Order: sequence, then C-alpha cells, then structure tokens
Amino acid sequence: MKTVGRFAPSPTGPLHFGSLVAAVASWLDARAEGGEWHLRIEDVDATRTVPGAEEEIIRALESLGLLWDGPIVRQRDRTARYEEALARLRERGLAYRCRCSRREIADSGTHGIDGIVYPGTCRDLSLGAEVAGADRFRVDASPVGFDDRLQGFQSQVLARDTGDFVVKRRDGLFAYQLAVVVDDADLGVTDVVRGADLLDSTPRQIALQRALGLPTPRYLHIPAATRNGEKLSKQTLAPALDAAEGSKLIAAALRYLGQEVPDIGERPERMLATAARRYSPSLIPRRRTTRSGGGGGERGGGGPRGPGGGGGGGPPPPRARRPPPPPLAGTALPTSPRKPPPAPQAGPATKKKRNRTHVRIIASGSSEPPSRQVPSTRPPRHPSDGPTRRNTHPPASR
Ligand SMILES: [Zn+2]
Repeated sequence: MKTVGRFAPSPTGPLHFGSLVAAVASWLDARAEGGEWHLRIEDVDATRTVPGAEEEIIRALESLGLLWDGPIVRQRDRTARYEEALARLRERGLAYRCRCSRREIADSGTHGIDGIVYPGTCRDLSLGAEVAGADRFRVDASPVGFDDRLQGFQSQVLARDTGDFVVKRRDGLFAYQLAVVVDDADLGVTDVVRGADLLDSTPRQIALQRALGLPTPRYLHIPAATRNGEKLSKQTLAPALDAAEGSKLIAAALRYLGQEVPDIGERPERMLATAARRYSPSLIPRRRTTRSGGGGGERGGGGPRGPGGGGGGGPPPPRARRPPPPPLAGTALPTSPRKPPPAPQAGPATKKKRNRTHVRIIASGSSEPPSRQVPSTRPPRHPSDGPTRRNTHPPASR
C-alpha cells in the first residue's frame, strides 16, 4: 500500500524548529517510499489563528523544498465533515451534551494525563442539543493500545486517564481530537509522523477512529525538540532566521532526527532528496521529552545509534563543525522552489549580509539532537503523574 503522510501545522506563528523537524520527518517517511505527503492547516481552533501565519508557514516550507501533494487542506473548510462525524457518534450513543462549567469540572474531577478527568456528571442525563454546553465522547474502561513505530507499545485506559473528552466545544468549535481523526481518514493517511507531545492524544484519536469505523494509521512520534528542557514552542523567544539559511536548517533537522546529513552545500531540496533515499527511521532517537524527564523506555537499553547525540561513533556534533557557506548568500529567498535561484556560490563562509526576507523560521540552539543517555521507558501514565497543561488545544504541529 502506498504511504500517505501529512504535515499539519497550526497557523499560530511562524514555523519553529520543533515543527520543522516534524515536517522533515514526515516528509522523509512518505517520500522514502515514494508516497504522498499532504499539507493540512490545523486552524480548527480559530481563536488561536494568527493572521499571516499560514502564509508564512507555506512560504517557509516552499523555500525549504518541502513540497506537498494536492491542494492544501484547511480545517476551517471542513466543519461539515466534523458535524457529520459528531452526528454519527450521537446516533450510536457515543456522544452526549455536557452542560458543566469549567469550574464545576475542576472542582469535581481528578487529574489525568491531560488535565482534569471529566467525572461523568452529564453522562446519563440525555441532555438535548438545545441545552448550552459541549459535546463529549463516551469512553470506556478497556485499554486502548497501539504500537508506535518509534516509542513502542503505548496504552491508556481512557475512563481513567482522560474521562469522556470534548469533541465539540461549548463555543461551537470542534475539538482537535475529532478534527484530526476525520481529516486523516479523508486524506487516506497511512502514517502519522509527528511530535511526541501528541503521543498522549493518540489513544483518544484511536478510540474515535474505532467509534467512527475509520482505519487506524501507523504512528511514529518523534522526540519533541527542546532547549534546556523546554519545548521549543511558538512562544519560545528565539531568533528568526533568514530562510536563505535553509540548507543549514535542513541539516539541523536531519541531525536532530539522527539521519545522515548530505552535503550541506547543496540546496535544501537536493539535500532532502538525498536524505529520503537514505532515510532510516530506526536511527531517530527515541527519547521523549517530558517535564518529568521522560522516564525510561519500554525497550530498555541503548536506543538506536546514529550520528549526533551524545554517544560514541557518529560524526561530530553540529557545533564542532565549521558552517559551510550559505548556499544562497546574497540572493533573495526564492518564492517558489520550482523556480530555482542562481546556483549556490562557493564563496567562503563569511558573515556576509544577506537580504532579510519575510519568511521566518524560529530556530535556536535546537539542532542538538536529543540525548540518548536517558533511556526512555515510559510506564503507563497514571493520573497522579499530574496534569499537562493542554486541554483541547494541542501544540503547534501535529
Ligand atoms: Zn457535564
């Protein structure tokens, strides 16, 4: 079966290193097998959309040679599909109206893996759709497990870990969990490759797939990009780079992913093509970033070897290397990779002043691959592990 992958950034700001890594990983994973790769703008939560961010992300991807197949999918155009899915859940008695206020839930719930576990107050009230409130998905007490291609077997008991979760918010917006399931199924996605910050969301998505009779794709969760233990999110204040530094960014992303880095003097799209031919998912470091420091791997021991990281044999870490000349020095950023700019200059790596363009990519000292020193066992999380701060707002790129 043909591989179908996707990259799904939220237009809440420019691309940051974490989402660049997710884009590169999913692109390689799809292209290595000659598969399709789609771009989906995850703007289901319209309250978080930043004007201009979508265009900025698109330009950045183009300038980096991360080209997608087919039309760009935008969640804002897909409300009718989400509505149909919700209607299906309701028909099956798997979704119900909840009128609880945030406050009431906070007062009566316990902490789960992703905030408060909904205590089920409205479960059996059969409230009509005319009652103001959110719609929740009815979960059960059976474990929902899956084999992550990188992180190994994962399992949650949703009744304990999340409770009945929101699929449509009180303000009328659909929740990410429902939207992403419907979107992936409609695109025919076979392989979801994204940041490990979404690992905990996956069992909820699988439960929804099952309830809706949709196939479950394979999952590969790459470690979240960190700097000093902090997730590199859009909120991180980091320098905005000239996108003419694209080749360096691609190199940094490949290094982060444990992949062999092609000649950095090449244009980004050439580097990517080479990297796709050599792509080896088993080289991606497995460690997942959590605030608690992750806590050891199901598979114990080493983890994959590869260049970068702290360990042993690979090529020297990024900083030990003298950066090669920026390939596009002195030229403006190409607006489309289909119209290649003049050939790279072979000049010395001077601090030549380049044109700043409006394409920004937030980067930083993030090219450090995650260390593999700490084996990443991740015991099934327990409610007492404490909340993570998300509710229905997932992070930037998923
Ligand atoms: Zn309720």
